[in-house]
Amino acid sequence: MSFEIYLDVDDLLNSFTLPVLRRLSKRKIGPYDYDVYPKAAGYDFCEALRIIMEWEFADFPYNMSNVWNDHPELVDLFRDAPKSLECDRLIQWACDQVGPKNVYLATKPVPTPKCYYYKALWIRDNIPLSLHSNVIIHPNKWMMGRDDRLLIDDSWENCRKWCGPRICFGRPWNDSTHNLETVLRDFSVVGSASDVS
Ligand SMILES: [Mg+2]
Repeated sequence: MSFEIYLDVDDLLNSFTLPVLRRLSKRKIGPYDYDVYPKAAGYDFCEALRIIMEWEFADFPYNMSNVWNDHPELVDLFRDAPKSLECDRLIQWACDQVGPKNVYLATKPVPTPKCYYYKALWIRDNIPLSLHSNVIIHPNKWMMGRDDRLLIDDSWENCRKWCGPRICFGRPWNDSTHNLETVLRDFSVVGSASDVS
């Protein structure tokens, strides 16, 4: 059995959360302006939006359970999100490690059918053709965790549930210090990958 690498898509291979904040706040937030994101919000971009907009909690109309229904236009970003700054090199690294046929994209949809279609379009337009048949869109990607499968994901929750080696990729909403440099430097031999946060 070959070792496999599973790459998250949203906020790992693309920049998704910051464009969401830009659209909802109507402020000039660039796709790589990670300093803008309030770390106190954790993995909750509605809370991040509330902090950025300085709204009182009681008045704030957005939360993670209603935002996709109340703002269906946000789904467009699954198609239009810009590539992350690390996308191309992470994919190249993963392909160098295990070969393209053992590199998978594992991405979680939001509960609207359009999301599946737009994710497929994003991958078609941004990811090398050799990976297009290795796409898994599933709400519980952690079910695929195994000892011979490495997950790289910006969601600590996904990493925590993954039964196998994982790297939580550092973004403002997690506490990880891993970035492109540490992944390329510390995990250049797949066999050394271990549980890290
Ligand atoms: Mg993600």
